[in-house]
Amino acid sequence: MDKSDALNIAREALGPMLSALSLTHWTINLTADSEDDHETLASVSFNHLYASATINIDPNKLSNPTAILASLRHELIHLLLSPYDMPETLLPECTEAPITPTLLKSLEHANELSILNLETTLDALGHTASALAQYTQPQVNSPSKKSRTKKPRGRKKTT
Ligand SMILES: [Zn+2]
Repeated sequence: MDKSDALNIAREALGPMLSALSLTHWTINLTADSEDDHETLASVSFNHLYASATINIDPNKLSNPTAILASLRHELIHLLLSPYDMPETLLPECTEAPITPTLLKSLEHANELSILNLETTLDALGHTASALAQYTQPQVNSPSKKSRTKKPRGRKKTT
């Protein structure tokens, strides 16, 4: 897919998806460059303390809007779980033990499986990537004026 087409699809969906996932406080930079790894369709790098992220979608591997939206939702769910996705440099401080490649791999695996579970749950609830791309915040109705401005009843007159 053309790079600018891919970016436009992602840009249009980003706002609604951020609202749907309660991530509107994040600043997201979208890019559409080829991923080096031949299996990687998209990627996200982030700083969860500053709530800022760059999401890259590979326009050469994501050939249709549905695939772009699914990848965008996946990367955004990474942000939901970002407190668990600690940088390698911070992990040894928390565990007070060396971080082995095996531990790192298993943490990454757990993270991806959690995201897959969330994706499956969202799909089951009808919140597919395409649906989230068109999400609008529900309007909160204020209580009707009629019930709020009801005048207190006066005392009944007794004769
Ligand atoms: Zn992932």
